[in-house]
Amino acid sequence: MAFELSIWLPILWMATGTCLFAAVHFLHAGQAQGNARLFRAFGVLSLMVAVYIGLGAVMQTPLQGAPWMLIERLHVSFACLTYVSGFWFIAMYSHLQAWRRWVCAAALVFGSLLLVNLIGPHGLLVSSLQPVAPLVLPWGERINQLANSPGPLAPLYYLATLGAFGWAFWRCHALWKHGETRRALPLAAFLVLQVIATGHSEYTMLHPQQRFDWDALPFLVLVLLLSRTLNLETRGYAAALDASNAALREENRLRSQAETRLRLMAFTDATSQLPNRHALLDKLGSILAGTPRPHGALVVIDPHRFAVINHALGHRTGDLLMRELGQRLSRTADGDAFVVRLSGDEFAVVFLVHAVNDEDALAHAVQKAESLREDLTRPLQVERHELSVNVHMGLAMFQQAGGDAGELLRQAYAALHAAKQTGNGRPATFVQTMQDQAERRLRLETDLHAAIDNRQLHLLYQPQVDRDDRLTGAEALLRWSHPVYGDIGPQEFVAIAEGSGQMPALGRLVMQMAFSTLAALPVREPFRLSVNVSPWQLFLVDFVDTVRAAIRETAVDPHRITLEITESTFIHDVPDVAAKLRALAALGIHVSIDDFGTGYASIALLKTFPVHELKIDQSFIRDMSIAPPDRFVAAVIALADAMGVRVVAEGVEHEPQLHALRDMGCHAFQGYLIGYPLMADELARRCDPCAARPPVRETAASPSPPRR
Ligand code: C2E
Ligand code: MG
Ligand code: MG
Repeated sequence: MAFELSIWLPILWMATGTCLFAAVHFLHAGQAQGNARLFRAFGVLSLMVAVYIGLGAVMQTPLQGAPWMLIERLHVSFACLTYVSGFWFIAMYSHLQAWRRWVCAAALVFGSLLLVNLIGPHGLLVSSLQPVAPLVLPWGERINQLANSPGPLAPLYYLATLGAFGWAFWRCHALWKHGETRRALPLAAFLVLQVIATGHSEYTMLHPQQRFDWDALPFLVLVLLLSRTLNLETRGYAAALDASNAALREENRLRSQAETRLRLMAFTDATSQLPNRHALLDKLGSILAGTPRPHGALVVIDPHRFAVINHALGHRTGDLLMRELGQRLSRTADGDAFVVRLSGDEFAVVFLVHAVNDEDALAHAVQKAESLREDLTRPLQVERHELSVNVHMGLAMFQQAGGDAGELLRQAYAALHAAKQTGNGRPATFVQTMQDQAERRLRLETDLHAAIDNRQLHLLYQPQVDRDDRLTGAEALLRWSHPVYGDIGPQEFVAIAEGSGQMPALGRLVMQMAFSTLAALPVREPFRLSVNVSPWQLFLVDFVDTVRAAIRETAVDPHRITLEITESTFIHDVPDVAAKLRALAALGIHVSIDDFGTGYASIALLKTFPVHELKIDQSFIRDMSIAPPDRFVAAVIALADAMGVRVVAEGVEHEPQLHALRDMGCHAFQGYLIGYPLMADELARRCDPCAARPPVRETAASPSPPRR
């Protein structure tokens, strides 16, 4: 048997295989890549082309007795399917918005042709096929030749394919117009090749005996070229994706750096570089959540009168002092302790203790707090100042708190408050009654707003007499009858008003009530009504205006008013306070230093300020010796005399005290012996006639009856 060189048929089978490979590749890659639809469309197109070329190869293979008509019908059917999937792919490939409409139209046209081809009595393109003598190619290969008679509907098919090519050229042009040359060129190359192949195929139709049909090959070219284009694009996408991934990673790195910085800032106090309140709550939260909960304590530390240092030496020194205290705390508290700056002048320390039970833990914690206090109160050098700071400390044990860090902090604050009340400098440990007190304070703080607004507070007036028992004045004393807690003393709620910023409103209310009572009193010279003024009122810039307004509104005579201020007023801005007091004195108002001897007023200050009266604090009167006469009281009276200032003794409860004070030259007296605080109408009755001695004096020599 002579050797026959086979080239053409293997080429066709290789083309089939290549297209099948492309189909599998793109159908699979379409699922993994972002441009899934385009890849899927191309995969389906490649599959159709593969089958189409494969069937074409079968038809060109010389086979004895093959069902040529059936193969031809299948061949044409796959040609129809190739056109539909071509529409789908090219529409996607050229970014056609209305791609669905075009694909449906193509499916309708080529689907109808396919149906006609499959189920019609004749094939679509040929109605019969007859094998004839094979065609011998120049290298000796024989390929099958089939004589055919054309199908009646073949022109319709050719018309549809013509339309399809026209449409494909239009899409190619659209790509070109939008600058997508990379996509347009391979498509254009395929189309041109296909036109040539089809032209050649039509030409050979004229010589049916020598027909060498290669019009399936452009489809192979299409698959190859577009596979390359799509793969290149995918590589481009991947590179871009890599770049944007790298950029994203860099951005993430920068963001996490910034977050760390922000977190550090949010959890650190800028002045002391210590952790702050947020950090404390965070830390406590994790400790309290631990099981079993460790033994340990939270100590809140409040340096005594830090505001005074700030005021006197400036905020810079204050800041340095805070930093120094913070460092000292960090050094003293051992490595396990967590030192925090809570706020302006407050610190907190969290520490663990090794203990066998709760009592043992408490004892260790108190000991530790004591050692912290001792270290903090040692003198320290800040710039050129040697300062020694006293501190208040409140301590709360981990075991007492629930699971809430905020609760533990509140307990430590309640203990701190108690430490301030006792004022003995020892750390106070939280007990439940402190919590109750703290709750009471909170409730009073809230209720006080309403009490001020609704005028639920009232004034009592305690009479004052001179050496001849004449009524020379009265002191207005504030009272609050609380619906739940009953009568509350001013000592408690004035402090609450001061601490919660309500003092300006409360002070205005007191002045309005006192001045209107005074305006209605039948008083004569030398009667004056004393009104207590908190330092917080005096520091307000509009304090003098407020007094003037109250005088105007009540039409009271300012020469009948004395304002009592405590010595602590003078430790603040001295020139400012002096100017305000002078402005008041110019109106005829007198200034009295209340609780004289308990505070910080220096004798030099008495020269600077327009002071008209000193009120010796009741503690000195209570404790004074009768015979020989008390030296301190005598000295105060002598000092006042020398400066032309009147002296009032307050808290006079017994006759011997009164006599002794009178003998020492004290000018006026106030106390239960003289009279209890009275309602305004009772005072009015005493004032008329004003010279009358309050009758209560005769009955009050016994121990003090309850206050009104
Ligand atoms: P204070 O100004 O030194 O008032 C004198 C306090 O001593 C009054 O207590 C008064 O009732 C009490 N007292 C008078 N005589 C005697 C006595 O013979 N024996 C004893 N043991 N006590 C006597 P109160 O009314 O509780 O006031 C306490 C403090 O509350 C006042 O001390 C004053 O600092 C403050 N306060 C009272 N009313 C006002 C007010 O309207 N405004 C301001 N800012 N503070 C006020
Ligand atoms: Mg007073
Ligand atoms: Mg007093």
